[in-house]
Amino acid sequence: MPLPLHPLLLTGSCRCTASRYRVTIPAAADRPRNPVDGPDGPIPLPVVLTDHCNDCRRVTGAIVNYWLSAPQVMVEMCFSPGEYDSGAVSGLPAAVGDGGAKAAVEQGMECKTQTEKEGEKEIWHPFPSVVDPSSTIPGCSLSFSHRDHPDHPLTITRAWCSKCGTPLTYSMRERPGAKPWPEPKMVEIVLGTLDREWLEEEWIMPDMQYWWGVRVPWVGRVSVHGLGRDVLVTDTSNAGSARRPE
Ligand SMILES: [Zn+2]
Repeated sequence: MPLPLHPLLLTGSCRCTASRYRVTIPAAADRPRNPVDGPDGPIPLPVVLTDHCNDCRRVTGAIVNYWLSAPQVMVEMCFSPGEYDSGAVSGLPAAVGDGGAKAAVEQGMECKTQTEKEGEKEIWHPFPSVVDPSSTIPGCSLSFSHRDHPDHPLTITRAWCSKCGTPLTYSMRERPGAKPWPEPKMVEIVLGTLDREWLEEEWIMPDMQYWWGVRVPWVGRVSVHGLGRDVLVTDTSNAGSARRPE
């Protein structure tokens, strides 16, 4: 469903928090429009979407991907040593980024990262400079793959955290000398890397399904109708407590 009309500052990170990002979204009236029109006219950006393309399924390993698709100018990243909370159990909040970020934003505070806790100044880098192959950012823990787009004079860049392996972004840039690609330049951010408090908001649910034409048939059905109540659930990974969902 559509994002709230007021300005937002969304935050997220990779699993180990070495690579953090923030997305500064203006009030609805000031948001750029998606070049792809919806039935009610141009769609304001950012947009949350599912993605059924074969490429992203292979790269992320997720049977269907969920992205926050935002203009690159809204996105910044910062890097720190990070911390791998070895005591964390899947499903429980991670050490950083789950629980505190939203409260901090609402209070007009910056999100605290590991670097800041240690008394060092944190630096937020504009996203285009992070993925620029010619730039070197001290402490950047991202790895990149760059490949030419098969149909356009663009280079596709995927970025993931080299410390913990979390896939984070998909973006494109013009190849040198190519005609400028229409604005706004976009970046897709893996939705599941947003801090948990944002994911619990109903408005973060996807508005669109991309690459519907190449979907895996049963995945498309699940995306529209859900798994249904016949599929057993467990509250943890303990299959012995399997039951029908409420
Ligand atoms: Zn990481």
